[in-house]
Amino acid sequence: MINFAPLKRSNPRSPLVAERDEAFRDEVGNDFALSIFSSVTARLPADSELFAAHPEALQRYVLERIASWHSGLVELVRMWDLDSVQPLALRTGVPIPSWAPTNVTVIGDAIHAMSPALGIGANTALRDAQILGTELIAAAAGNKPLLTAIGDYEHTMRGYAFDAVRASAAMGERIIGHGPLPG
Ligand SMILES: Cc1cc2nc3c(=O)[nH]c(=O)nc-3n(C[C@H](O)[C@H](O)[C@H](O)COP(=O)(O)OP(=O)(O)OC[C@H]3O[C@@H](n4cnc5c(N)ncnc54)[C@H](O)[C@@H]3O)c2cc1C
Repeated sequence: MINFAPLKRSNPRSPLVAERDEAFRDEVGNDFALSIFSSVTARLPADSELFAAHPEALQRYVLERIASWHSGLVELVRMWDLDSVQPLALRTGVPIPSWAPTNVTVIGDAIHAMSPALGIGANTALRDAQILGTELIAAAAGNKPLLTAIGDYEHTMRGYAFDAVRASAAMGERIIGHGPLPG
């Protein structure tokens, strides 16, 4: 499968960008297009070969795989900027049972890495941050004990985040050919 996504920067003049170094500011000031060729592991060379390959070799490999596809897609791959071509293994986390809260907690991919098939991993991480932040503010204000606040965040997060992992895995199975989540 080939993905193609033109990306327009929504707010390159944000104060969060202004405080970073010049290279970062240059990068986020440019709109760009993202193109990804993806395939199931069984049809790809071994990871050892893939991850040692130069960008030219990766592009050549993709051009061979898509030689009979629509000429527009072949042209798109020919236009790849070789400085940005890299291999990436996609893996998913697996939902786990609840645990007792402690003063160490987890947010984002550290607890719910998921297939990018639905494009909701970062959004789910931001939702974690918002909910955990609200819980910590409640604890700091004396409205609930700290471990209760952390446990409440973790309980809520496990609901929506593990649903997102399952939904992303199901979509990845359908459109990218990922293997199913265990049991
Ligand atoms: C191909 C692809 C497309 C995606 N598209 C989308 C999309 O369209 N929409 C969406 O919402 N999500 C998307 N995602 C998912 C999204 O990228 C992740 O869910 C998100 O980046 C997770 O954020 P995070 O902060 O939890 O983890 P990360 O972004 O992985 O950040 C963790 C950071 O910790 C650093 N780190 C690791 N170990 C250490 C250490 N020991 N010490 C110090 N620092 C350390 C890492 O360098 C990294 O900077 C996509 C993912 C992929 C792979």
